Amino acid sequence: MTGRLGKAVRRVGRTGALAITLVLALGLGASWQAAHAIRDGQRERAQGVLDRAATLSDASVRSEIHRYLDTLRTVAAAVGSHDELTAGDFAATTAPLRQAGLVGATSLVFIVAADDTQITSVQDYWRDRGAPDLQLHAQGSGHEHLFTIFTRPLDTSAVLPSGTDLSQAAEPTTALWESRRSGEAAVSDTYVLLRDRGLPPDRQQLSFVLAAPAYGDPAPDGRREFKGWVVLGLRGQDFIGGVLTRATQGQADAELWAQNGGGQESRVARLHQAGQHPDIRRDLHVQIANREWRLVVSVDAAKMGGSAPILPLVVGLGGTVLTLLVCAMLWALAGARGRAEERVVAATAGLCAAQRTADNQLALLNGILDRISDGVGVVDADGAFIVHNPAAQAMLGRTLDGDEPGASRFLRPDGVTEFPADELPLARALAGESTDRVEMILRGPDRPDGMFLSVSGRPLDHDGQRGAIVVFHDITEAREREADLAAFAGIVAHDLKNPLTVIGAHAEMGRDALPDRPDQAYDSLERVGAGVVRMRRLIDDLLAYVTARDAALKPCEVDLGELVADVVAERIGHLRVRPDVYVGTLPRVEADPAMLRHVLDNLVGNALKYVRPGRVPKVDISAQPSGPGWVRVEVADRGIGIPDEDKPHVFESFHRAHTGQSYGGTGLGLAICRRIVDRHGGTITVTDNPGGGSRFSFTVPAAVPVAPETVDAHEYA
Ligand code: ADP
Repeated sequence: MTGRLGKAVRRVGRTGALAITLVLALGLGASWQAAHAIRDGQRERAQGVLDRAATLSDASVRSEIHRYLDTLRTVAAAVGSHDELTAGDFAATTAPLRQAGLVGATSLVFIVAADDTQITSVQDYWRDRGAPDLQLHAQGSGHEHLFTIFTRPLDTSAVLPSGTDLSQAAEPTTALWESRRSGEAAVSDTYVLLRDRGLPPDRQQLSFVLAAPAYGDPAPDGRREFKGWVVLGLRGQDFIGGVLTRATQGQADAELWAQNGGGQESRVARLHQAGQHPDIRRDLHVQIANREWRLVVSVDAAKMGGSAPILPLVVGLGGTVLTLLVCAMLWALAGARGRAEERVVAATAGLCAAQRTADNQLALLNGILDRISDGVGVVDADGAFIVHNPAAQAMLGRTLDGDEPGASRFLRPDGVTEFPADELPLARALAGESTDRVEMILRGPDRPDGMFLSVSGRPLDHDGQRGAIVVFHDITEAREREADLAAFAGIVAHDLKNPLTVIGAHAEMGRDALPDRPDQAYDSLERVGAGVVRMRRLIDDLLAYVTARDAALKPCEVDLGELVADVVAERIGHLRVRPDVYVGTLPRVEADPAMLRHVLDNLVGNALKYVRPGRVPKVDISAQPSGPGWVRVEVADRGIGIPDEDKPHVFESFHRAHTGQSYGGTGLGLAICRRIVDRHGGTITVTDNPGGGSRFSFTVPAAVPVAPETVDAHEYA
């Protein structure tokens, strides 16, 4: 649990958790405080309603009771004032009561007392006074009976028959004796009226009587004759209902409790408003004649609050929901912020790690660059060096900074010809072209003898910008050694060629001097002659190989079509079986004509030579544009082809792919071709010719925009 809490706090952060706790505490506190305040207000208003209802009820009950008692006393006085009371007098005296609006009053009865011995005389007396059918029904004997004589009904219910002995009911009896004793009106304990005792229990209600003694006018001695009682029967529920409904105006419940003689309380009546649940009340004491009764008024605080009872709960719950929503929003916001911070921290850590790796790699690369002997430089789209290593600095010096333009110059390997700026590996790499081992001489004020460089270039896109990387390899020493060797080879070749000529001439002379039959000596002389030819070819190839590298390049516009036609004619002109040679449309190129002729002669010669014995050679010579300003020349044959493992090596000097077969050669022809093509800034490759044979192709600068129709196609057959 603690762990989960800790995790949650971490997720939203300490500030977030604090804010959420604060909002929760304040929000819940304020919501429920507001709910309590509303409820207290409701209770206060309800108390006000209760107070008003209680005051009104108390006043109503008191005034009504007083009115009833006054009425009763008035009737008692009127009854007592008649010397000879008759039924007619009683009826006349009590007639106004019908309009008196005595709510709950059942009847007004005149009652007289008689003991066992007086029953007959009393009965006769009142029969003579307007009650001829009066029959006194004494209950029990040995005590004073209380007989009803005249009755004034005040409601619609059945009246108690005249002559009923009331002493059978303890409650009115006690009240009657109390009123007689005190000479004042008295109220009875509550009881079920005699006439109601036959009703079903649920329709029975507690009633009580108000009794007032009736005295005659005072005698001269001041004494007053007691004549009987006037008793008003009241149904408690009807009385209270009638009195209190007006007083409470349907806003309050009310109960009237009577304090009975035995000290017990009994509920006289109850007024209940449907749907109310009274929870606050007032207890009031009402003096009713000789008794003190209790009036309880109560109201439903929630309903009397002046606003919807559910309002406090709605406010409390609404506030709680609102608070929780705000907390949830805060939680989400703080969580999102926490997560964002976590991501930033993780990303920063990742970036730091990447930065460290990058720094390490940079240090490693710088270390490598600082230590390698080749010069390495990176240039931007304008050709300005943005990175270079110490070796490049040492080789190129101030050329790197672009200072003193023209002070340093790049020359062709012949040391004379200016290297065209747009053919420099750097320029070609910026144009998107890769170059390898392009040889040149860098000559400047600080290097009057020049430095021999082998330069390779590669395009390098950097940050969406075109750039290039150039590698400079100092081959000055190697070239000097080769130059020495070349000089040595030239001398040796020259010195060898003279004796060879002599040997060849003598061998020929010897052969001519021999009789005309091929014997052993003749054969030997023949072989000497062939050996001399081979040796001369080797010496020529060696010299050509050296020349191809060292001779000054004299480029000019060359008609490739004418040159190829010349080479082909020379190669096949003397052959008895004409090979199948096809020459396509060829453009004009910019090259050293002698050297280019050497290349074409070598390739055509090989294509005619390396065929299966007895087969007629088939050669296709064609050309097509190869990028801006370049032409690709192809020489394809249907010969014996070159094994895959030999293809990468055939351009190396002295490499022969078909040794052991009867194809003569020195292994220098293709090496010479590569040197020449290299010096023109081009490349030479070999692939299989689809369908059999080999396909050699090399690139050479175009003289003018390539126009394929400049030379017509030729067939040599
Ligand atoms: P070589 O004097 O032997 O012809 P080259 O340098 O011209 O020397 O060629 C090197 C080797 O390449 C040859 O010995 C040969 O095996 C192979 N070669 C060159 N051209 C062809 C070709 N057109 N067809 C098959 N093999 C060839």
